[in-house]
Parts: sequence; structure tokens; C-alpha cells
Amino acid sequence: MDNSKKLGFNSLLIHAGAIDDQYGSATVPIYQTSTFGFPNVDEGAKCFAGESDGYIYTRIGNPTISALEKQVAILENGFGAIATASGMGAVSTIYMALLQSGDHMISTNAVYGPSRGIMESFFAKFGVESSYISTSNPENIVKAIKPNTKVLYIETPTNPTMELTDIKACARIAKEHNLVLVVDNTFSSPYLQRPIDLGADIVFHSLTKFINGHADIVGGIIITKNEELYKKVRPAMVNLGCNMDPHQAYLVIRGLKTLAIRVERAQENAIKVADYLENHPKIAWVKYPGLKSHPQYNLAQEQMHGPGAMISFELKGGLPAGKVLMNNVKLAMLAVSLGGVETLIQHPASMTHSKLSKEAREKANITDGLVRFAVGIEDVEDIIADLDQALAKI
Ligand SMILES: *Cc1c(COP(=O)(O)O)cnc(C)c1O
Repeated sequence: MDNSKKLGFNSLLIHAGAIDDQYGSATVPIYQTSTFGFPNVDEGAKCFAGESDGYIYTRIGNPTISALEKQVAILENGFGAIATASGMGAVSTIYMALLQSGDHMISTNAVYGPSRGIMESFFAKFGVESSYISTSNPENIVKAIKPNTKVLYIETPTNPTMELTDIKACARIAKEHNLVLVVDNTFSSPYLQRPIDLGADIVFHSLTKFINGHADIVGGIIITKNEELYKKVRPAMVNLGCNMDPHQAYLVIRGLKTLAIRVERAQENAIKVADYLENHPKIAWVKYPGLKSHPQYNLAQEQMHGPGAMISFELKGGLPAGKVLMNNVKLAMLAVSLGGVETLIQHPASMTHSKLSKEAREKANITDGLVRFAVGIEDVEDIIADLDQALAKI
């Protein structure tokens, strides 16, 4: 669609991924094939030389996957997108493409656990250095920059502490110091936050979460702001072999159509749940960007189009009380992941962030009693009633 950039966000969710299909199919067909035949040798040569848009081999590109890539690139106002087998496939691809031996990366200390794990356990072996700091204060970033710093990799809001990082301020710092600014936008989805508009160079998502939204696939996607970065990142994915599968892409395209209405509903629920928790006598604190008590409430208003559906909180009784809560909820599922239609509850210190040392967790404000709550689209009365009966058991 040539005019797709002019449509509103909701219309883009429905129409931006359309492809020309010979039968006029209303949905993107699944091209479940590994390879594509060339009409003749010269056409084949043109495909390999990049002089033709023809497809070659699914690891390199596939029409179903391209439809998803095109659509998400439009939603994020980027130049192009690269879909990957998982969110971690996207992280690995980004690191591989942007960093080499002797380089240094600065990242948010409460970043998604494996995004830090792969850097410290694997990329460190190849001589890549990294520092994890509280990026919610931009001054900390400036202080952490070294002569070999190449990448500023942030996650906002962070998982699971719900701290925000000022994307515009990071973009200024990155420009001044010649760093590539990468933003993990998984927690917000493009519906609530569009980092390229705020100056980011690369954005990525775990599609597993809000974008697909139905807890039935894992997937990832990288969006670059310009062609130069696209050409730098795409070969890393192709050569690493962490491409998406066409069927996976089909499911994401299907889930993506309802992103706006799902996020709206989950957020509406989350605002009420956060308010309920904040007023509950057994809760010590609640961190949610939609609450006035959030220290970066104003920044959330500025850079996000809404506070989202993720909440973190701690009980006055700390971890033991949190365990009673998590073992007694019935509607909420005790599970990792987020951004799906169902409400999930989990304990980062023993689950998603258990690979971090206790010291690293403390530095990142991931207390042992922190509970992460991913609000779904059920009736909010049922979500609150479930929390209420579980909290009564403490
Ligand atoms: C889930 C997640 C990832 C990793 O994505 P996978 O699809 O699980 O590989 C990265 N960042 C954030 C913020 C996530 O929530």
C-alpha cells in the first residue's frame, strides 16, 4: 500500500501488511516453503545480486515473513524490519551486527535477564565489554561512556522494576558520542511508544508478548531507522540462522491486528488493578507508570501514549507473603511472559532474573519480594476478586 503511512495506527494494524496475492486472499497466505524456483539463470543471478525483489530461500526471506516485517516497520516509523525466531534471536542479531572485539556496550541494569546473560556469558568471550547501570538518570550514562563505547542499549519501562529511561535524552547522548541507540520496546508495543520518533536508531520487540498477544508463539523483530543500519543488521540474522518461520509469521500477523484493542483493554484493567493494590493494607509499594506515585510519572506522560499493562509490587510481608499470594491466585496463571490476553503473575528473583547474582539484582532494585503482574483482558472485577481472595490468605 503506497499510502499506508497516511493511515491512522488502527487502520495500519489491519491494512499495512497486505500483499498482492493472485486470488485476492483477505489474509496473508502462508508460504510454507524453504526454497523458491527461479524462472531462469539470469533471474536467479539478479536475486543473488540484490537487483531483483525475488525470493531465494526462506532463511534469507519469505513473502509471509516480509508482510509482517513491512507492517511492523510502518508501525514503528522505521525504514525496515527483520523478523527473528525469538526475541533473544533479535538481541543476538543486534549484538552480532553492532559489536566487535574491544567494543563496549552500556545497558540498563534491570534489562531483560537473558539480554544481559548472553552478553556476559558469550559475547564477553569474544572480547566485548558491557556495563549495566541505572539509565533512568541520563547523567549515569554519560559517566559510563568509555572511548570504546559503541552501543547504548536501553529497555523502558524495564523488566521487572518498571523504571523508565528518557529516550530523547538518550538519543542526544548517543548522537554526541557516536553511539547506536537500541531500545527494547517489548513492554510498550508500538501502540504505546515509538522510540524511532524519539531519536532511537534501532528498536526491537519480543513478538511473543503484546504484538502477537495470544501466548501461542515465540518471535522477535528488529526495526531500523534507516537503510544503512538495515543493511548492517539483516545479514547477521541471515547468517546466524535465527529467521522466523512462515507459519509463525502468519500467527503474528493475525495477532497484531487486534494490538490496539487488546492493549487498550489490558491497560484499562491495569489502571484499576494498580489502584486496588496501592490502596491495599498488605501491599508495601506498587510501581506502575500510570500511578502518580511513580517517580517518573511525568516522563511516562511525555514519551508513552499510555502506562501499559505491567505492574510490579511488593507485599509488606516480603517474599514469604508474596509466595502465599502467588500460590493462591486462581484466575492469574503463575507463569513467565506477558502481553497476552491472559493475566500472569511471576516472581523475578526466583524465575526470570534468577541467573543474575543477588548483588546484581539488588543494584537493579529487583528485591526478593518483588512480584510482577501482567494484566490481561479478562473482566477486571474477576482479576481484582482473584487478588483479593489470595491476599486474604496472608
Ligand atoms: C520476553 C522478552 C525478551 C526476549 O524475547 P523471547 O521472545 O522470549 O526470546 C526480550 N526483552 C523483553 C523485555 C522481554 O519481555
